[in-house]
Amino acid sequence: MRSDNILKQKYWFSVSPFVFNLVYAAAVLLMYNPLFFRKFYEVSPSGMFFAGGLLCIFLLLNAAANILLFRPIAKFVAILLLMINSVVYYFMITYNISIDKVMLLNLLETDWNEAKETFSYSILAYAAFLGVLPSIVVYKTEILSRSAVSELCRRALTIVISLLVVAGLVFANFKTTAQFMRNNKPLKYSLIPVNYFGAVVSLVKIKLTEVKGPLEVVADDAFLIRYWENPNKKNLVVMVVGETARAQNWGLNGYEVDTTAPLNPYKNEIFNFTDVKACGTSTEISLPCMFALEGQHDFNRWKAKRRENLLDVAKAVGYEVLWRNNNSGCKGICARVETETPCQTSNCYDDILNENLAERLMSSPRDRLVVLHQKGSHGPTYYLRYPKSAEIYKPACKTERLDKCSDEEIVNVYNNTIHYTAQNLANLIEQLRALSDVYNVTIIYMSDHGESLGENGIYLHAAPYRFAPEGQVKVPFMIWMDNQTAENLKIDRACMMQYLNRPYSHDNLFHTALGVLGISTAVYKPELDVLEACRNSEKF
Ligand SMILES: [Zn+2]
Repeated sequence: MRSDNILKQKYWFSVSPFVFNLVYAAAVLLMYNPLFFRKFYEVSPSGMFFAGGLLCIFLLLNAAANILLFRPIAKFVAILLLMINSVVYYFMITYNISIDKVMLLNLLETDWNEAKETFSYSILAYAAFLGVLPSIVVYKTEILSRSAVSELCRRALTIVISLLVVAGLVFANFKTTAQFMRNNKPLKYSLIPVNYFGAVVSLVKIKLTEVKGPLEVVADDAFLIRYWENPNKKNLVVMVVGETARAQNWGLNGYEVDTTAPLNPYKNEIFNFTDVKACGTSTEISLPCMFALEGQHDFNRWKAKRRENLLDVAKAVGYEVLWRNNNSGCKGICARVETETPCQTSNCYDDILNENLAERLMSSPRDRLVVLHQKGSHGPTYYLRYPKSAEIYKPACKTERLDKCSDEEIVNVYNNTIHYTAQNLANLIEQLRALSDVYNVTIIYMSDHGESLGENGIYLHAAPYRFAPEGQVKVPFMIWMDNQTAENLKIDRACMMQYLNRPYSHDNLFHTALGVLGISTAVYKPELDVLEACRNSEKF
């Protein structure tokens, strides 16, 4: 049989390195970039510009191939990149995401249990057809060798000519190109393999320049003012850090579906802020930013690791601080305080965060700050975030392949996660209300970032912030305190009504928390404390 013969042949093709690199660059561009072509075409000023752009990209890929693909490792590198391309392409096409350093960081810092949830057999099909098959062709191709000197000269010449042609094309249309590049920066995050190479280089650069040295103290003048009416009462602040909950689907914000129904009985004790912007579009950025003194404008995730945060300040003035985790880690924030991970299996529902909390807090009443870090609405496996009994909205999407579900099923399953979060908050309120003889009790709920649910074909989160859809940026934020606590902390409830719809952001959390914790320091900015305008107290 002829096919037997083909398989037995050592090589199917014999080509020069020049031809190999040329064909490889063209294949990479064509096989993994239909998504990029579509996006590029949509924003191209003309068909000519689009064609010229593709030619430039092809020439640059060819130049890169001439730098990277050297014998004897040329085929190994070529195959490795094909395999990576196929997997990256699968994620990009399935969730319509782009790849930049934040997305890569997301991927690297995701824990194994989360990664397992994202696994789908379709990824194997992509790897087989777009990874293994072309790799076999590469494997069965003989790259002819020449003398080293001749090889180097030819490659250098190819690279120089490629760059000259690209430079010529760019300069001939300089104004249009410069404007295009300026207006369409995120486009490069869709171009395989440029996007993940760029992300790796950015991360390595950041790692190399990472700030080392001792921890920077942010509020060394901080001290506790027990400004409440009954100063002997202990102060308890529970911060529930939400995950991937977006403002748009938060019932208390006026969403047409009453996803926060379990909180309705407590409406009179809740300050719900309707217009709140997240610091970032991913946990990696938002979480440390929420607890940092510096606001979004000055926040640097890598410097933040070496700076104290809200938890350190609270601990320094005498609070007992506890971080309870049901998420994939605290991104360094909880490094210097007591932590607990009650979940001992691969996936627990968020109700585990409430378990035995009141008993624990009552066993030795002290001023306390507790953070409950939820798994919230983390996708794409939204259906794993809540127990069967909490499935309110049906039909709900029951797969991680969101592209296989209808819009209605995705919104339903997502709304179930929000409803379940509201249910857990309601349970927490009931549990902590019982402590009000001993404690002032304040619960602050704020989500880290939002989510895209398929609007314009975009799913999940971690889009570059400047270009992120509102769904990923706007988050729910509410504060609950019973009347006794509000009175004791001198908060005028009626006054607060006029502040609930004002624009706020994650920048407000640090200072609002200092206010309810009663921490005085020169770095406190009263204008960023959302309760300050309605607090009848000299000091706060
Ligand atoms: Zn998150």
